[in-house]
Amino acid sequence: MAVAPEITTEGIYVGGTWRPARSGETFTDFDPATRQPLAEVARGTAEDVDEAVAAARAAFGPWSRRSPSERGDLLRRWAALIREHAEELAALESQDVGKPLSAGRLNLMIATGNLEYGAGLADKVMGATLPSRSPEHTGFTWREPWGVCAAVLAWNVPAIMFCSGVAPALAVGNTIVVKPSEMAPLVTLAIARLADEAGMPPGVLNVVPGLGPEAGTALTGHPGVDHVSFVGSAATGRAVMKAAAENLVPVRLELGGKSPNVVFADADLDRAIPIIVDSICENAGQNCYAGSRLLVEAPIYDEVLQRVAEHMATLRLGPWDADLDMGPLINQAQYDRVLGYVEGAKSEGARPVTDAGAAEEAGPGWFVKPTLFDDVDASMRIAREEVFGPVLAAQRFSGLREALDLVDAVDYGLLVSVWTNDLSRALQMARDVRSGQVSINEFANSAILGLPFNVAKRSGFQHGGGYSVINELTHEKAVTIQLDPR
Ligand code: NAD
Repeated sequence: MAVAPEITTEGIYVGGTWRPARSGETFTDFDPATRQPLAEVARGTAEDVDEAVAAARAAFGPWSRRSPSERGDLLRRWAALIREHAEELAALESQDVGKPLSAGRLNLMIATGNLEYGAGLADKVMGATLPSRSPEHTGFTWREPWGVCAAVLAWNVPAIMFCSGVAPALAVGNTIVVKPSEMAPLVTLAIARLADEAGMPPGVLNVVPGLGPEAGTALTGHPGVDHVSFVGSAATGRAVMKAAAENLVPVRLELGGKSPNVVFADADLDRAIPIIVDSICENAGQNCYAGSRLLVEAPIYDEVLQRVAEHMATLRLGPWDADLDMGPLINQAQYDRVLGYVEGAKSEGARPVTDAGAAEEAGPGWFVKPTLFDDVDASMRIAREEVFGPVLAAQRFSGLREALDLVDAVDYGLLVSVWTNDLSRALQMARDVRSGQVSINEFANSAILGLPFNVAKRSGFQHGGGYSVINELTHEKAVTIQLDPR
């Protein structure tokens, strides 16, 4: 598929205008299925970020004073345009990230739903009336937008991250500057074009594609920004938090994960096995919530491993437009990293149960075979670190206590999926695990509207999505009044 050059080389969207980077430079975006260049994209730098922040500041007053329903209506018009163009956008995301087309379609559907949900928050920003010790005093709170928000995003589900981040921020009256990831910026730029078409006032939404150490650092460290949100790796999250600390502004971090599927002996394996495999192979394992650990109760351990390995062996790998089960990894660095983890696991003593390594037969892209490891010890790197690839580490447990200890043995706390038909045990697990999200007899539900994308431990903090994101994207002002005693 050819990508229209104007959406990429003129990819800086600032103050309602599309233009090239001030430096005139571009960076190359690659097609993961062919390893060939896909597009040249405007390479925003500090100068572009300065202009974007200034445009967002100028737009903030008028935008925040617009009626909430007007803000919501505009976001809904934008969502309607995305729905109209969903098929082209799904293809763009699929090719740029390397995921099968049907996964791109699903992502676009979720992204649009999240945009509409965010639009619905516009007229639901409420404060509280406060009890008073004295009849002569009354008090209440207002919730007000922060001002200029900055969002620096990862590449794996770009449409979802963009829509879910931007919609609530704008709905409650903020303006925003977004830096999409340089690994897969195309769908974000195309969706932003539709915002323009929907009538987005100049400066309310600004998009500056570019590299992390250039546009990313410039934006997260910009003194004109009032709130920073970041989606990406823990290592970068640390740098972003330091930059926000310099400016003393609030920061929301959505970082990595090492999510387990915890399978008890009474689980319905016919339902569980395909979902467990999908949880680590969807997007070639490049999801923050990927089910990268398989914790199985001892009596069914061998059976589960055998069935997971058999199911993995049925997966078909190929480019996005072949629309098979799994695509390639995003780039050479990620490919080397994942293969490095596979080799490292072997040398640490883990045993691959499936055929492990590069999948050259799938095509010239960065394809890696889905891999299941047995004989994994809790101290091994594949048991503790985020691989961000289709690599699953299995460990055995006996009983609830041991399951909880294993779940908690990693730094991350994003999602825990529990498979059991014992309601009491499922709820005990849900209560006692340190995790932002828990799934019971399913994995990462996308059917629940407004499900907060919460994270715990080193997976980050602050509200991600759902209704409570209003509290994250506004600050509370307390107002008190002394009443005239006459
Ligand atoms: P990354 O940390 O390398 O990059 C994320 C973004 O930060 C990119 O836009 C990048 O350009 C920018 N960046 C890089 N260095 C920067 C710096 N010093 N200052 C400011 N910005 C900088 O992560 P990635 O490889 O793009 O994404 C993969 C990671 O994202 C994984 O760890 C994954 O788990 C995580 N992720 C988390 C969620 C979530 O919601 N929790 C969702 C998707 C991905």
